Amino acid sequence: MSVPSHAVALARAIASRQISVVEVAQDFIQKSEQKADLGAFLSVDSDAVLAQAAAIQAKLDSGWTAPLAGVPVAVKDNISAQGQPLTCASRILEGYVPPYDATVAEKLIEAGAMLVGKTNLDEFAMGSSTETSAYQISKNPWDPSRSPGGSSGGSAAAVAGRIVPLALGSDTGGSIRQPASLTGIVGFKPTYGRVSRYGLVAFASSLDQIGPMATTVEDAALLAEIVSGHCHRDSTSLPDAKINIADLKSGSLRGKRFAVPMEMMADGLEPGVKEVIEAAFDTLRGEGVEIVPVSVPSVKQAVTIYYIIAPAEASSNLGRFDGVRYGPRVEGDGHAGSSASTRGQLFGREVKLRIMTGTYVLSAGYYDAYYRRAQQVRTVMADEFAALHRDFDAVISPTSPTVAFKIGSLSEDPMALKVLDSCTIPANMGGFPAISLNAGLANGLPVGLQIMGPVMGDEMVLQMAYCVEQALPSVELPQ
Ligand code: GLN
Repeated sequence: MSVPSHAVALARAIASRQISVVEVAQDFIQKSEQKADLGAFLSVDSDAVLAQAAAIQAKLDSGWTAPLAGVPVAVKDNISAQGQPLTCASRILEGYVPPYDATVAEKLIEAGAMLVGKTNLDEFAMGSSTETSAYQISKNPWDPSRSPGGSSGGSAAAVAGRIVPLALGSDTGGSIRQPASLTGIVGFKPTYGRVSRYGLVAFASSLDQIGPMATTVEDAALLAEIVSGHCHRDSTSLPDAKINIADLKSGSLRGKRFAVPMEMMADGLEPGVKEVIEAAFDTLRGEGVEIVPVSVPSVKQAVTIYYIIAPAEASSNLGRFDGVRYGPRVEGDGHAGSSASTRGQLFGREVKLRIMTGTYVLSAGYYDAYYRRAQQVRTVMADEFAALHRDFDAVISPTSPTVAFKIGSLSEDPMALKVLDSCTIPANMGGFPAISLNAGLANGLPVGLQIMGPVMGDEMVLQMAYCVEQALPSVELPQ
């Protein structure tokens, strides 16, 4: 039997003994080698994968069952998995092997998943293309001269390239949803606090959230359910965090009202993207959805406030990388000297830019002008979206204003990529759930539709996304 490409189907085939876990592992190893050019993985330990497969099969043979038993899952390399290298795609963590599992890794193992390797990202998840990775640039399976997006671009390439059915990403300003959009897959950022951040290397702690990437809403929902839940090791974890997808398929679009912020349909939206999104709106209207244009003025400030708040938090979080506690050290004069040489030489340009911006906006004299002001706008933005979520069943938009861009085409201009984040940032600012799923192709490249819902409305967002996925024409991922 050939290995089913969806996680749910694969789990079923393994559970019913149509295929063995070792066969699945071998198939993964073969695909990861065949598709090495995509640059999706920073590390794969084939021997460890085969050993995990044998252990999982042995447990299955003794009568054990688990929802993801034998299913390969790729993990973004800013999430800790015991014994597997953790680099955050930075030289400053080269050679570091964490001695513990992130809560999400622990949950995956409990669910029977094979943690097959760590995926490429922008350095410390700062970027939208994987081009700031210190090691490699990931390629888009739809067109290898184009970026799969970022920062979870390695996870997106691994899933869209059909190397694995499931991957974890992290999303601080869009890093799960934008790469999902650019590679034609599903990416879901849950409500802040529903998935534990313990073991996720912190970028901007008030915005970071781990979430699933998959080829279908059902697979993404299953992975979300598995990794969610209250965690006593993450102080921002919500008490009733577990996502329950029992009713995933019982929703309906008829009579629903979706708001579309006009600010997300304006500036910089590529004509091809606009066409696909408008065609998707027409399809939804045909299913009985009322689509209501609304104005959300704070969206225009999204990029500005994000590039104040995220660097501010990063400048503090990245203080821990001083060459003493983790990774390599570049010697210098005393502790301060070594720390300065280590950071100066081993952090990449984008990371240093963010640390400096962050330190600047937090410094006495500038704090009020930048950081405090940005926090005020963040509150306004959260309130504006909360009001929409009270009045509408969902808020929808394009995920990204562009399709996958050519590698190298935007990386020289420090603003070019950043201005593309305005549709995804609000969900991080407000902590609410948002999903991206494919809406069609523009000039042969995928366009993502974003569905946003209220805080703790993850189940509803997934249910709506499932209905929307059924309604929209399906596209085949490239072979
Ligand atoms: N593109 C954004 C940035 O560069 C978002 C990154 C993210 O969500 N990790 O910071």
